[in-house]
Amino acid sequence: MEKTIPLRPDDGSFLREVEGLSGVAVSACFHCEKCTSGCPVSYAMDLPPNLLIRHIQLGQRYKVLSSETIWVCASCITCSTRCPNDIDLAHVMDTLRRISMQNGLVGLPRVMAFHDAFMKAVRTHGRVHEIEMIGRYKIKSKTFFEELELGRELFARGRIRIIPERIRGLKEVREILGRPLSEA
Ligand code: SF4
Ligand code: SF4
Repeated sequence: MEKTIPLRPDDGSFLREVEGLSGVAVSACFHCEKCTSGCPVSYAMDLPPNLLIRHIQLGQRYKVLSSETIWVCASCITCSTRCPNDIDLAHVMDTLRRISMQNGLVGLPRVMAFHDAFMKAVRTHGRVHEIEMIGRYKIKSKTFFEELELGRELFARGRIRIIPERIRGLKEVREILGRPLSEA
């Protein structure tokens, strides 16, 4: 978990902050809604993607950083490829997740628990080790008895490895993950 920093009030600096950290010209959005209409999980979001952009433009820091939308986003990049203004919204979502974590604002604690477990596994092995990740997630989310049948089925099909595998470029992966937000 990254260090928590105090949340600044809503103001125009939020747009500059998001644009500076992501390198994406969020202010160029003219709300055609192509991102939202193509997003496979917009039905589950509390703010549709184009509306999230609008709140960034209006400097509404708290509303954006505490939204469930940024954690529901599946990083599928459909929005980025559909945008007529080349706005890489998927990368903006990633930037917002990181700012949200730094500010201790997470709209969906279970998603955060999964994110933490996933990142710890990747930092340790350079790739996911399912049993370790699921164990960490279950402890943190206190959902010990959920999805047992699914786990049994995945195990029976050989989709869950007992012994972890490490990649060769582990040092490089750790370096990338350790970079500050502005360089990520
Ligand atoms: S597709 Fe691009 S321009 Fe259209 S609403 Fe989405 S981000 Fe804005
Ligand atoms: S990257 Fe996120 S916001 Fe964009 S289309 Fe995919 S799920 Fe939706």
